[in-house]
Amino acid sequence: MNKIEIAKNILTENQKILNSEKAREVWKDCLQIIKEHIGGLAFKTWFEPIIPIDFINNTLSVKIPNDFSWEYIEVHYNTLLKKALFHSIGEKAKLIYIIDDKSSEKISNLSDEVISKRNISEKHLKIRKKIEIGDSDYETYLNEKFTFDNFIKGDGNQLARAAAFAVANTPGGTSFNPLFIYGGVGLGKTHLIQAIGNYAIVNNNAKRVLYTTAERFTMEYVDSIKKGNTNEFSSFYRKVDILIIDDIQFLAGKESTTDTFFHIFNSLHQLGKQIILSCDKPPKSLSGLDERLISRFHWGLSVDIQPPDLETRIAILLKKSESFGLEINTQIIEYIASNITNNIRELEGCLIKILALASLEGKEISLELAKEVVKSVATDKKFNITVEQIQKIVCQFFEIPEDMIRSKTKKQEYVQARQIAMYFCKKFTNASLKTIGLHFGGRDHSTVIHSINSVEEMLNNENFLSTINTIQRKIEINS
Ligand code: ADP
Ligand code: MG
Repeated sequence: MNKIEIAKNILTENQKILNSEKAREVWKDCLQIIKEHIGGLAFKTWFEPIIPIDFINNTLSVKIPNDFSWEYIEVHYNTLLKKALFHSIGEKAKLIYIIDDKSSEKISNLSDEVISKRNISEKHLKIRKKIEIGDSDYETYLNEKFTFDNFIKGDGNQLARAAAFAVANTPGGTSFNPLFIYGGVGLGKTHLIQAIGNYAIVNNNAKRVLYTTAERFTMEYVDSIKKGNTNEFSSFYRKVDILIIDDIQFLAGKESTTDTFFHIFNSLHQLGKQIILSCDKPPKSLSGLDERLISRFHWGLSVDIQPPDLETRIAILLKKSESFGLEINTQIIEYIASNITNNIRELEGCLIKILALASLEGKEISLELAKEVVKSVATDKKFNITVEQIQKIVCQFFEIPEDMIRSKTKKQEYVQARQIAMYFCKKFTNASLKTIGLHFGGRDHSTVIHSINSVEEMLNNENFLSTINTIQRKIEINS
């Protein structure tokens, strides 16, 4: 290195130090303002853990512990942050978050006054890791937050976890091929199957890992038909080392997608590649799916996940609160764990809601607060019924063939049954408008909204209302 280069290096190093000092100063100013506007607990939870890193060209970069904090701050404190930053830096201020547990970056949306939560969640979903393989890079669609390390073992999931771990260590090399994991909602299926992919990548046990949902697989396939490149579609999937497909029950009734999947499955299996599937029911109960495919599922191992016992639920809550950087009194943890019993997503939801209320409304995290939240989570709870079951009930009621509800037919009696079924799907399941649309012959979400509105408008009519009530009772009995 010549002298000039050395001097340049020293200057760059100096500049870096200056930038980080400046970042600390700027952030200190911001914190001052933020502190004046929010409660102590909120400040401690969301803002204290943030570390200023760098300040350059009016852009402040800060390190933030995890996605959850980032999302929470962007949704709830955007206006306040903007105020603080403008005060300290000026109106050209920009903020970049570096997410600590992900090494990904997010740019704060300071130009919008209010960001809707949905908007953020959609962004959240787009965090995908890219891996380079040869000259092409492709997305694994894995979310790195799902690991074996943060998957709590319990009686209900022990076997599934052990099988998953074996597969992650020697993909394609065990007799668990395919590995078929099934169980009810919110019990950790997605977590576990993604953990396999993440583990295999980190430990170099597989090169190409692809996670997808049966829903996305279907949409991509339909898209490839439209574009006339179904061959490319299939050959892309045949090139992976580990293929993970979530919620395979979604393929039921979709003949040509299932057929294509069948061929991909055979080809991967023959090459000794690993296939991992999740489902809401065991293979033998998968009606509407090609028998040939179901028999393939029995080639490997199918294993279920059962709801967690009390100890496991407590362990999960402790782990989650730790990852949010919070200490919650064990009495409260036990209260939540004893009252929310068969869905881990709800357990988490409860914790997040408590956190949110405590920090947003300056409430203390108390047993009373926990009781209030548990009660609201319990009443928010949707019925345990699927879109398909609702379609079936509605078709039986109107005595029409089930495929008519998914068809494009505009015959009045079908149109009405379709609209009513969509209305109930929104009311009784957690399916998004988009998902509902897909189940009704690939209609888009605006059609679903239109249908729901039409039904709601007609509820004024007494006859119509009584029809709706009768169907609703049938749904409630079946859920
Ligand atoms: P499913 O796919 O079965 O509906 P998910 O895998 O999406 O359920 O799990 C719901 C939530 O619960 C996720 O946030 C997941 O991380 C968490 N979760 C599920 N099981 C466990 C576990 N054993 N330990 C820790 N977290 C879990
Ligand atoms: Mg899932």
